[in-house]
Amino acid sequence: MRSFYELVRHEGNQDLFRAVEMSIAALSSGHPFHIHSEGLRGTGKTTILRSAASILPPITRIKGCLYNCDPQQPHCPEHRALSTRQIAALGSEDIPCPFLEVSHGAKISTIIGSIDLARLTDPNQPLAALLPGTIPQAHRGIIFVDEINRLADAAPEIADVLLDVMGTKPGRIQIEESGLPTIELPIQVTVWAASNPDEEPGALAQIRKQLSDRFDLAVGMGRPNEVQSVLDILLSRSGKQPLGGCRPIPRMPMSGIAVDDDIRMLLAAIYVDYGLESLRAVEAMETAARLNALLIGHDRVSPHDVAQIVPLVLSHRTDPATIANILKFLSSGFYKPLQQDNIAAGTVAASNSSPSEQVQPAVKNRLAAWWNRLKEKLSENESKRKAAPQRSIGSAGGVSGRNQIADPSQIKIIAPPTIAEPLSRLSIDEYVHIDENSRNR
Ligand SMILES: [Zn+2]
Repeated sequence: MRSFYELVRHEGNQDLFRAVEMSIAALSSGHPFHIHSEGLRGTGKTTILRSAASILPPITRIKGCLYNCDPQQPHCPEHRALSTRQIAALGSEDIPCPFLEVSHGAKISTIIGSIDLARLTDPNQPLAALLPGTIPQAHRGIIFVDEINRLADAAPEIADVLLDVMGTKPGRIQIEESGLPTIELPIQVTVWAASNPDEEPGALAQIRKQLSDRFDLAVGMGRPNEVQSVLDILLSRSGKQPLGGCRPIPRMPMSGIAVDDDIRMLLAAIYVDYGLESLRAVEAMETAARLNALLIGHDRVSPHDVAQIVPLVLSHRTDPATIANILKFLSSGFYKPLQQDNIAAGTVAASNSSPSEQVQPAVKNRLAAWWNRLKEKLSENESKRKAAPQRSIGSAGGVSGRNQIADPSQIKIIAPPTIAEPLSRLSIDEYVHIDENSRNR
């Protein structure tokens, strides 16, 4: 298999490369960041995901521990009660980062764990013990699920396990085998998945919406549409194309990337104003924006990072029109003052202003953006109305030009023209109307 850095990047797969790099950067910080790649068969999504196994950072574990116990934080039933001295005596070893696959035909016992038949049938010392399954053995690494839509359809019980594992960070797993005590373990795995939504049984979001929402990013895979991209692929396959130009993934911790209050305010405004359903979307936007900043070498998240990650975080959580509106909102100038602040803050020392002082301009800008959006919408309606000749009523007072909407603060409004008569001074006949037909019945 070709290495990750040898694969040709083009306009159809660059988002998946970026998503994988973000997930690996998160993994280096001990933070699971789940990604799901959706696309037609043959677009190379599984090739990219599998080849990334070669660039994962190695881990250090207690020597021989099948659960990949971190010597600093042992979690498995065998090691979690041991003292530091006992663990040091066991020794440690560096191993390649776990990268294990779950196929759509997998059985629950092989995924979670089952009785260890080899030890049970050992003629010298038969022992009933548990053999951890694929997920516990992938602790601190990656689980790759190809055709996750088929797995969710054919094996809902495995989808339930994934929901538990991906529900919190770290997740949890319970290993049960009759006759043996139940084991509950914290599990920290990053899930990478791939599927073809155009094949049976359809898109994961339609089969198991909850599971689809557990993925921080959903990345659509496309085909190359530039002649040069296809040429690069052909050349690389014949070994003629000098490859390179890919920057290694920074190994700095995610916590080193600052997220200002105004960025959080922006994310909260997106969540509320655009009616996003899942709060996971906001958390994923913050983490993804942080990882985006980390990959481009910045130390602070900017609104530009938010704009870059919005399609990846929201494509499986909302409709394309909403995403387009959010991107339009982000490019409308709403965040210009914030962006300038952030660029300055990212390169110079942190601002001395208090969080409330930083938030204030964001609130002001949000109101301005709200008014601009409303005005834009009204302009569209006005434009449509005027485009229909039979319904044209000419320009209203205070409105000049076809697509312009009057600013209410500039219009002189006189209402009511005469002072209304109080109800108490009117006779009953003046404000109660009796239907003559009903009176005659
Ligand atoms: Zn252990």
